[in-house]
Amino acid sequence: MNRRRFVSASIGAAGALAIAGRVRGDGPPDDSDPTSLIPTMMAATAKMPIESRPLADGLHLVYGPGGNIAVLDGPDGLTIVDAGLPNRAADTFEVVKRAGGKPVVRLINTHWHFDHAGGNEAFGRAGAAILATPATRRRLSTEQYTEIFKMKSPASPPAALPVVTLDEAEVHVGPETLRIKSVPPAHTDGDLFVHFTKHDVIHTGDLFSNGFYPNIDASSLGWIGGMVAAADVLLKLAGPSTRIIPGHGPVATRDDLARYRTMLATVHDRLAKLHDAGKTLREAIDARPTADLDAEWADGFFTGGMFTRVAYDGLVKHRAGAGKAS
Ligand SMILES: [Zn+2]
Repeated sequence: MNRRRFVSASIGAAGALAIAGRVRGDGPPDDSDPTSLIPTMMAATAKMPIESRPLADGLHLVYGPGGNIAVLDGPDGLTIVDAGLPNRAADTFEVVKRAGGKPVVRLINTHWHFDHAGGNEAFGRAGAAILATPATRRRLSTEQYTEIFKMKSPASPPAALPVVTLDEAEVHVGPETLRIKSVPPAHTDGDLFVHFTKHDVIHTGDLFSNGFYPNIDASSLGWIGGMVAAADVLLKLAGPSTRIIPGHGPVATRDDLARYRTMLATVHDRLAKLHDAGKTLREAIDARPTADLDAEWADGFFTGGMFTRVAYDGLVKHRAGAGKAS
């Protein structure tokens, strides 16, 4: 299987070693600490080429350093899903324009993260109407702090903010109908996916990272049980010939998504048991609940330890929140 690996492709062996070599206190290197991942990724992707390829007549994929971008040609201009990294906004803008040959009139954000909404300001200033869920607009409008990366994200300028918020919609672009649907908290609390119904292509945003452990943003109320539920919604929608654009990684099939769902459900069940047994975060990480899965899933973005950390953190916070609510 020709898997495009996010970090190994973008950071390379030296970066991965630098991450794995982080030392906590006097102990051995802690490969569950993801705090150096984002700055390393930003540096490594600063010059990475942004490429495009046609997926169907009038539908292009733009890919490279940030999240995958879908570009749909329409009679009134281009409709795009996601907008790439902030430090590559000018390049992304040019590649999208060249791929579609028209100005962008509509930009749909799958969620608020900087590697998907980082190009919002460039497209918004150029006249694109930005669409997203209410939670995504709320998070883009205010400063965010992402605990696991110890990362602050400033509030976006007005031109970068969604002008339309929705949880579900149909958007008609020429002969194509886009079905937009949000899901309960999964990767964040504002995720949506887009189904290009005529082309039978689904852009999942970060509900799906094809071939490797995904990030799950507990600071934005994301949690692994929600990721499993979202994968089930997508699996119900996809058929054997549906092409699936993941947030990161190569274009996938329903089978790829089904394998990913099995991995998520397996990890969820193991972490739920650890939490039922009262394990602390450190104890859960040290139990290495992903050990038998790491060979297949740990070489793209997170190590098994990092994934256990973010997934356990989100599960504990979700359970605490659910307990309070009931
Ligand atoms: Zn994301």
